[in-house]
Amino acid sequence: MNTTRIALSLYSLFLLFSFYQDSPANEEAEIQFQETLELYKSLSTDPVKVQDQEIWDIIARAFYSIYLNNPDSSKAPNSLFLSGRMYEEIGNRFESREDLEKSVDRSRLFIRAYPDNSLADDAQIRIARIIEGWDKKQSYLEYEKVIEDFPSGDMKIAAKNKVQELSPFKPSTEERARARVNEKSKALVKINKIQHWSTDNYSRVVIHLDKEMPYQSYLLKADQSSRKPPRLYVDITGTTVDKNLQVPPIEDGLLEEIKFGRNTMDRVRVVLYIKSFVNYRVFSLNEPFRIVIDIEGEKLESDDYLVKNKDVKDLKLPESPPQIDDKDISTLRGALGLKVKTVVIDPGHGGHDSGAVGPTGLKEKDVNLNIAKALKSIIEKNGSDVGISKVLLTREDDRFIPLEERTAIAKKYNADIFISIHCNASKNNNAYGIETYILSFTKDPESLIVAARENATTQRGLSDLRDIIKKYLLSSKIEESTRFATYVQRSVVTNVSIKYNSIKNKGVKKAPFIVLIGADIPSILVETSFITNTREEKRLKSSNYLNQIAKGIYTGIKSYSTEVETASLIR
Ligand SMILES: [Zn+2]
Repeated sequence: MNTTRIALSLYSLFLLFSFYQDSPANEEAEIQFQETLELYKSLSTDPVKVQDQEIWDIIARAFYSIYLNNPDSSKAPNSLFLSGRMYEEIGNRFESREDLEKSVDRSRLFIRAYPDNSLADDAQIRIARIIEGWDKKQSYLEYEKVIEDFPSGDMKIAAKNKVQELSPFKPSTEERARARVNEKSKALVKINKIQHWSTDNYSRVVIHLDKEMPYQSYLLKADQSSRKPPRLYVDITGTTVDKNLQVPPIEDGLLEEIKFGRNTMDRVRVVLYIKSFVNYRVFSLNEPFRIVIDIEGEKLESDDYLVKNKDVKDLKLPESPPQIDDKDISTLRGALGLKVKTVVIDPGHGGHDSGAVGPTGLKEKDVNLNIAKALKSIIEKNGSDVGISKVLLTREDDRFIPLEERTAIAKKYNADIFISIHCNASKNNNAYGIETYILSFTKDPESLIVAARENATTQRGLSDLRDIIKKYLLSSKIEESTRFATYVQRSVVTNVSIKYNSIKNKGVKKAPFIVLIGADIPSILVETSFITNTREEKRLKSSNYLNQIAKGIYTGIKSYSTEVETASLIR
């Protein structure tokens, strides 16, 4: 990564994370549009930036997210149009068919969303022009559409000339019919996977799509008269349901049922039937595009209205989970008010995502898993002393798990705390030390770089993060997470310092990590050491060092738990 790119990426990050408090959506879209437009204009005057495909892509994406996040604002049409235009430029400049196809997609979306906009015929002629590069027959049909669909547009003459020029490629009636069928099936993006996790009072549903599409969500409260539970609707534009889609069976928990329906020709409605409802949030992540829905509810009591509807035969009510703790522990917990009972440890990365890599090739994913396993076995041996009865890993082996699934696992097991374990990395191989993060906004460039790297599997979704985190900030247990982080950071540094020299305490920091979003329990991310530093990489290979780190994290958990205990005794 060269310096200009870092400077620009950071600028974009600031832009994306700066907090436009209380400004109405339209005003916010306006500001973002102006800033993105400035960035776009600055490209042509900077000979270095203009050759950097990543910078082009960041800006094209920024335009697209303005449209996605504010589809009703006055800047939405221009933002979508410019995103399509930029992808054509990117495709031509960097000879990328993928980007040209993206331009076609964006342009088609523009015509569908704003058929009466004066730029719609420009979008159609762009489609024709791009497709001419690989399919002259299809291109002929696309130019024809300019003439037929926009008879009063200013692109009509140019299109007529092209139809003339391409007349040797004029498709037969049969080919026309085939093209129409093909277009119909291609036009709509598919919902290809649905996942869900539930407890008695929480549910996370993830809808996977082939491509990014605009969506809206709204909630219908429970309807006593028709005996309907609360329903959450998510309407996704330009979408259909893949015929092979299978929804995993819904077990006991907050989620009652998932249904699909088409409420217009190109819009799919996903309906979630919920047993009880307190709050919900919807956000999206990218690569692959998916819509994440978090619902909070309450465990239903037996006299709840749903239970009275005995005619609803399939209504399974959540039963209380089997008690596996031994009595002494629960008595002790009752007396002392110990709150940390279940711990979920998240070894960062895995599978195709190696995380950072050290100078000799040591992979972060392997180190993270080793530390997590060491920590798990320490807790299994000693945890009952402080009332911890359960410890789980988000992955036990070398496999890829999307970031949002990791948090969902913590919720599914009703975890009381969540610890994500990572190794730090830097372009500067002299950088070293230990730091612990909590989820929040930040303007510190260094912390932003760390977050960008740890979010890398969904990096292109960064622009949406600002809104997501805004939604979560109130419930993210910032204070408790900070205290938890402080204990862990302190005891990890102390523990490794006993046996190793040159240990740097980089402190507790804040940054927008996707893996910490939505946990609603004290959650931290530990950057255990720099894998890019020769000395620390060597140490990360030794099980002694990893054990010292794991012991340190455990001591931190213990201190936090004891503090919780003391606090509840005082009250
Ligand atoms: Zn990492």
